[in-house]
Amino acid sequence: MHVVVCVKAVPGSTEVKMDPKTNTIVRDGGQAVINPFDASALETALRIKDAAAEPADVRVSVLSMGIPATADLLRDCIARGADDGLLLSDRAFAGADTLATTYALSRGIEALGGADLILCGKMAVDGDTAQIGPELAGTFEWPCATDVVEVRGLEPMCTCVRANIDRGVASLAVPLPAVLTVSKDIADLRMPSIAGIMAAETVSIEVLDAKRSASDARRIGLSGSPTQVVRSFVPDRADGAVTVPGDAAEQACALAQLIEGMSL
Ligand code: FAD
Repeated sequence: MHVVVCVKAVPGSTEVKMDPKTNTIVRDGGQAVINPFDASALETALRIKDAAAEPADVRVSVLSMGIPATADLLRDCIARGADDGLLLSDRAFAGADTLATTYALSRGIEALGGADLILCGKMAVDGDTAQIGPELAGTFEWPCATDVVEVRGLEPMCTCVRANIDRGVASLAVPLPAVLTVSKDIADLRMPSIAGIMAAETVSIEVLDAKRSASDARRIGLSGSPTQVVRSFVPDRADGAVTVPGDAAEQACALAQLIEGMSL
């Protein structure tokens, strides 16, 4: 069983720098952290490994596309229990939209020897589109369950999960190979052990550039992205809020008067 966890490095601070020319996030590695949803995806994979009759038969790989410094985050994932890591890193990958990111990650999965199960976060906290997991499923033509809150069991051919849907939680049997995107609440990522940290120091993270990942140059990076961000801005915050006192009926009445007096 090979579980690949897609891990994105995201800014660890709310002060995100944007490149005014390309409208992409400036990723200089400063204070980068693992996307919190991906931390939960990694813990989910590690629990699958722990629960296996033969944990050594379950290989957990972490995969990222990012700047060279992202290798440190992958090393941290190994210190916490992942078996190996692969980083796709090349200036040619920069500025990718979700389609180009998915394509690059699919090349990485091929380079890892394929997967039985791909785990992604439900969304990345910077780009926020929640498209990568379903797009990976589409690329490989595998089933996909999104916003998974529990992995109940994993058998060689199938996994049983509970996933949030619009009106509640659904129990799903998902045939493998498959892609799951997980909720942040599914599991808290464990701390690294001292032995894990020491072992991770000696592990070399494989880094592939566009050429070595056999990526089609027309499908990667900014130029390979059909979607481009035209403008990004911080929305103005309106001030002048009014507090409406009283009980519910009085508040409703005062609110109606306020709305009537507004020039909409
Ligand atoms: P999501 O789909 O939200 O991420 C889901 C999961 O996919 C993650 O939890 C992680 O497991 C995995 N994943 C995502 N990226 C990586 C990675 N680099 N390495 C490993 N795993 C990964 N792109 C569009 O196509 N359309 C848009 O409208 C769009 N709008 C944007 C707006 C802004 C302000 C910004 C900054 C970017 C926008 N992008 C858009 C670009 C988009 O954020 C990038 O394509 C990004 O690389 C992937 O999308 P995401 O962060 O939304 O990922």
